[in-house]
Amino acid sequence: MMLDEPKVGKHYPGGLSDLRAWFPDDGACLDYLDWLRWPDGFACPHCGSGVAWRLADGRYSCGGCKRRVSVTAGTIFHGTRTPLTVWFEAAWLMMTSKSGTSALNLHRVLGLGSYQTSWAMLHRYRDVMVVPAREKLSGAVEMDETFIGGVKPGKRGRGAAGKVLVVGAIERAPQGRRGFGRARLAIIASAKSDTLREFITANIAPGSIVISDALSSYPNALAGPDYEHDPINIKRSGLQAHQLLPGVHQLFSLSKRWLEGTHQGAVEGDHLQSYLDEFIFRFNRRTARQRGLLFLRLLERAVEAKPIRYLDIVANPRPADRPHRPPGPRSWPGTLAVDPLDRPWRTAK
Ligand SMILES: [Zn+2]
Repeated sequence: MMLDEPKVGKHYPGGLSDLRAWFPDDGACLDYLDWLRWPDGFACPHCGSGVAWRLADGRYSCGGCKRRVSVTAGTIFHGTRTPLTVWFEAAWLMMTSKSGTSALNLHRVLGLGSYQTSWAMLHRYRDVMVVPAREKLSGAVEMDETFIGGVKPGKRGRGAAGKVLVVGAIERAPQGRRGFGRARLAIIASAKSDTLREFITANIAPGSIVISDALSSYPNALAGPDYEHDPINIKRSGLQAHQLLPGVHQLFSLSKRWLEGTHQGAVEGDHLQSYLDEFIFRFNRRTARQRGLLFLRLLERAVEAKPIRYLDIVANPRPADRPHRPPGPRSWPGTLAVDPLDRPWRTAK
């Protein structure tokens, strides 16, 4: 569910002090998730029944199938041992800072017991940042590829070793207006036409104009009546790629700077796509006047239950596409619930 016109101070917190006042304990967090998941009242994820009783432990007892259902069942909070107050604070830090937060930073700022806990938490949030049905890019769309990561900038051009090939696309503002619109970034196996075609059909609406360099893969990738192609011959123009395709090149440099800065270049190829998803999630909402709105949007997605597959339950508690956990001990942080202050500085020696 997506709220149509969420209001600050009513549907989402306006600042950190609001956040802490709204969600002093896990009960308040759970009620917020309940409201996001079932704005019109409980609906059983198993049988669809809307009749249920509230149990003492906060779960529902479904009147239809008699199952016990918790608000977090099937969501990214399913079975978590981390207090919801910590989850909320992490979401807030991740969404309200322009450059997000890293697992290391979260670990330090929230005083979490282990780096691994904060790493896993951020990853679960990243998992829900891509929605398959999201609206495709449209209008005039710049497109190009770049390499991300690797050891050091060494070999140039297509095929540099140790790097991951990433394709980017960004909407140009309509004629007469400055700036750029929404964007996408995706890892691709190669710059062949089939691969580009796949990216284009998944991310760019038919009827759009695709502006790219004159790489030979594009004409084939864009063949057919669905897209118009505006190829730019960079060599012949005497200009640089970043001058001719300024939007997508800015997107590349911002995302690389973010990976180098916030994450200190420590992102491995296996996880790069989910980091790119996080980057795009914030980038596409960069004009939001209230950063708290992103917090709401993230939690809305976080409570969208994924269908529980039989395989997941019986045989495969960790699907292969789930990122591997970093090494190190696991521990669970204490709650961030607020206790009455005892003014420790008064009793300190
Ligand atoms: Zn039921």
